[in-house]
Amino acid sequence: KPERKRKPDWIRVKAPTSRGYGETRQLMRDLSLNTVCEEAACPNIGECWEKKHATVMILGDTCTRACAFCNVKTGMPGRVDPAEPEHVAELALKTGLEHIVITSVDRDDLPDGGANQFIKVIEALRAATPKTTIEILTPDFRGKMRPAIEAIAAARPDVFNHNLETVPRLYPTIRPGARYYASLRLLEEVKAHDPSIFTKSGIMLGLGEGRLEVHQVMDDMRCADIDFLTMGQYLQPTPKHAEVAEFVTPQAFKSYGAIARAKGFLQVASSPLTRSSYHAGDDFAQMRAA
Ligand code: SF4
Ligand code: SF4
Repeated sequence: KPERKRKPDWIRVKAPTSRGYGETRQLMRDLSLNTVCEEAACPNIGECWEKKHATVMILGDTCTRACAFCNVKTGMPGRVDPAEPEHVAELALKTGLEHIVITSVDRDDLPDGGANQFIKVIEALRAATPKTTIEILTPDFRGKMRPAIEAIAAARPDVFNHNLETVPRLYPTIRPGARYYASLRLLEEVKAHDPSIFTKSGIMLGLGEGRLEVHQVMDDMRCADIDFLTMGQYLQPTPKHAEVAEFVTPQAFKSYGAIARAKGFLQVASSPLTRSSYHAGDDFAQMRAA
């Protein structure tokens, strides 16, 4: 059996023990909310939850897809919780969040792919905390993309995020249920539909991609008018998941970040522990203030 690659020092993070972490955890349980922070075993959970930054995962904890990098449960999801939008709004109110990130599992089983629940969550948040900026991180709404985009864009999230996750060559093994160009098109269409919505995407590094392939993804994203980019190290959640091909050094992340800025992204986060939602609020606030 191949030995798992040892994590380098720059990846190690402290175990979450702070009081703020415990309070956020309790709040999620009280409101019956799932988070990608827990489901994806995110290494930043100690730091983010201490500050009450969490990414809520709506539409249940079970996904209809099975990406090779992802720790979320796969199977037949349950019914959509009608109380979820109110619970998300209550979370934002109780934590006083200035920026909230909402994501979901893929719901290929639902006729609208889950778009309506995103809209209800946005509406509940706008009603409860109108100053909170809203970032949604959506699935690709396979086969239902156009109506989903139009409906969600009409609800006016501040940031529309959808991750490309990796370079196109690795899709068949890493993201087999998705199509690279369909994901790109989704973001391109959001922007074309409403240019006032910021679009955002991200990739994981360390899955075996080449440098030029990463540059090509950046160019593709800029052609699709994507505003923000995140790049972080892929970590293998369990031995059943895709193996780490390489631990990309912090210097290499820096260099990718500089190239991305030169290519014209408005905002770039690139470091080993960068995740799609890591410091999302801080970055967004800084950009709006600039
Ligand atoms: Fe959650 Fe995102 Fe922070 Fe990870 S980086 S703990 S997913 S908010
Ligand atoms: Fe995980 Fe999203 Fe893939 Fe589902 S579609 S397995 S939640 S990455």
